[in-house]
Amino acid sequence: MGALSGVRTAVKIVNPATEDVIAEVEMADAAEVDRAVERAVRAFPAWRAVAPGERARLLRRFAQVVEDHAEELARLEITGAGHTVGNARWEAGNVRDVLNFYAGAPERDHGRQIPVPGGVDVTFAEPLGVVGIIVPWNFPMVVMTWGAAPALAAGNTVIVKPAEWTPLTALRLAELALEAGLPEGVLQVVPGEGEVAGARLVEHPDVRKIVFTGSTEVGRLIGAKAAEQVKRVTLELGGKSANIVFADADLDKAAASAPMAVFDNSGQDCCARSRILVERSVYDGFLVRLSQAVREVKVGDPNDPASQMGPLISAEHRERVASFVDRADVYAAGSCPSGPGYWFPPTLLAGSSSESFRRAFTEEIFGPVVTVVPFEDEADAVRIANDTAYGLSGSIWTRDVGRALRVARAVEAGNLSVNSHSSVRYWTPFGGFKQSGLGRELGPDALSAFTETKNVFISTE
Ligand code: NAD
Repeated sequence: MGALSGVRTAVKIVNPATEDVIAEVEMADAAEVDRAVERAVRAFPAWRAVAPGERARLLRRFAQVVEDHAEELARLEITGAGHTVGNARWEAGNVRDVLNFYAGAPERDHGRQIPVPGGVDVTFAEPLGVVGIIVPWNFPMVVMTWGAAPALAAGNTVIVKPAEWTPLTALRLAELALEAGLPEGVLQVVPGEGEVAGARLVEHPDVRKIVFTGSTEVGRLIGAKAAEQVKRVTLELGGKSANIVFADADLDKAAASAPMAVFDNSGQDCCARSRILVERSVYDGFLVRLSQAVREVKVGDPNDPASQMGPLISAEHRERVASFVDRADVYAAGSCPSGPGYWFPPTLLAGSSSESFRRAFTEEIFGPVVTVVPFEDEADAVRIANDTAYGLSGSIWTRDVGRALRVARAVEAGNLSVNSHSSVRYWTPFGGFKQSGLGRELGPDALSAFTETKNVFISTE
């Protein structure tokens, strides 16, 4: 390993749709991370001192440079991560929009004035210093930006550690930031292995906050390690979200939209509604509609605008996904290309009492596999939905407004949608209940995750 021997390792970046090696990227060892932290520490005083309006202008310019390179960034995500062209273009646009949204923040990073006797009391939102952002492979450029944009807007310097398999868009974004005029050392990208470069960021005393997006398993380790230094953390972790369909819902719409609420990005989505709960009186009819919709999902070349789903990220991940599927539980499945590429068909598992179904119904699969079970009534639906350690997202389908609100309040999850599957808008808060995470990203309050409140009393006597 690079960190132990001093010899850097290089990782081959593979196009998941073709298995072609498209790049080789050197993995940073712990010493390289330390050098990046040193640069970030040096850059911090000047960056925090940049006048709010000027910091805003630089972030807007960064957004414009991203817009100018949107197609290039999208192409990198298609070849490097197997995303469909529709998704990859949306993601490049999301990076631009998130940067623009938080470009509006520096001049609005207000403190408060609180009435006190004998003087004036004011609060300041102080930046933290160096922020480390550890990113998963499923949405590389988007997840990086959700952390980096508000952190930079608040006056912090940022080091991003992309996932081993998908560093290309992160590396390009760091170049584009320099091109836009962000000073050296303000936004750095350090590709490296999790246990080496990621772990070093977490334990480095000069890194004041870690934003980690990834598995609950690694998130737990990072939370424990960070606690040794009382280091601030935001954790965005796994999910096993419920899509609850009541008998009074628009069943055609619910069934037609349910597949892509799981299979988008080949199911490699923390918000995937991978447990569908259907009221028993409409269960059989719903399954028929859903099977049809699952079979119609178009899986193929990510460059083809007609493709709704591309490959999985790697052979290793495909093997893991396959381990959840017992042929006996398969109610319906779509098709996918054969030959090179890490393809997996959209797969529907329904209402079985087997041990393998139970595992598929409870564990995060992170692939195009959806499980369906019936429920008896509203209370039963809420009970099943909450019977999980996760709590990230979910959907509720009903025409009864009262029930929609009751169930939305009762489901223990951070992001719910009614008669829709939307989860993420950059101007609304996003994050998980329970073991799906800690803290919130995006939305109007994201800067508070990258600042400390300082209270100052000034005597007038
Ligand atoms: P992962 O936990 O294996 O890795 C995530 C990142 O952590 C990678 O960059 C990895 O190199 C790094 N890492 C691994 N071990 C580390 C260590 N000991 N110290 C520091 N860093 C370390 O997750 P993954 O497989 O890349 O991503 C899939 C997971 O991410 C799923 O569970 C998914 O639900 C979750 N996810 C959550 C959200 C959310 O917003 N809640 C968004 C996307 C993905």
